[in-house]
Amino acid sequence: MQIIRNNNILDWIQAYTVVIADDKEYLTKLDSDIGDGDHGINMDRGFKAVAAKLPDLADKDIGTIFKTIAMTLISTVGGASGPLYGTFFLQMATRTQGKFELALEDWVSAFQAGVEGIVMRGKANLGDKTMIDSLTPALQSFRKSQEKGLDISTALKLSSQAAEQGMLATIPLVARKGRASYLGERSAGHQDPGATSSFFLIRAAAKCWI
Ligand code: ADP
Ligand code: MG
Repeated sequence: MQIIRNNNILDWIQAYTVVIADDKEYLTKLDSDIGDGDHGINMDRGFKAVAAKLPDLADKDIGTIFKTIAMTLISTVGGASGPLYGTFFLQMATRTQGKFELALEDWVSAFQAGVEGIVMRGKANLGDKTMIDSLTPALQSFRKSQEKGLDISTALKLSSQAAEQGMLATIPLVARKGRASYLGERSAGHQDPGATSSFFLIRAAAKCWI
């Protein structure tokens, strides 16, 4: 794949909605271990609301699609993850306004803005045991793929692998942001729920855009 079109974005988000619904219990279990046990419920509520809006977005530009996703997540998802994923999509929207197609460099630029938005809002650094631990390696991998001139499908596959490694790397970490940080040392030995849902987001695109 060389170009991401607006309908590819809709397919990706639709696929992610299914993943979240299927893995709702799993995400909630991860959040029960180190948080308040609502991450799967939060994400499922948000993306079900997003999925309901997808049919109306069929002929819209990618910026409008991302903006609608962002606003829907911000208004339907309680907890830390709603505003953070909302910020991610809102920042992606600023780089894709009016565009119906994205080349890899456009995608990387949007993804970078999204990740930087989460960092700006949540103030998490790499290694704080949050979604940033999946998203940052994913972004670094996208940048490398862009430099090498790889195609979008390959870039997604590599980035998904990087995100998975980042997710697994959260297991031994002590949480320094969000609810899990209240547990201190006891948060070590558990995989971060937000890093998991972020990996799923990239994996969904990798599976969709082949
Ligand atoms: P809440 O913690 O409010 O119950 P969720 O359970 O939906 O919200 O989401 C928890 C996830 O949010 C965590 O696993 C972590 O990945 C992410 N998170 C929490 N705080 C931050 C932050 N400041 N920056 C980035 N991600 C964060
Ligand atoms: Mg929670």
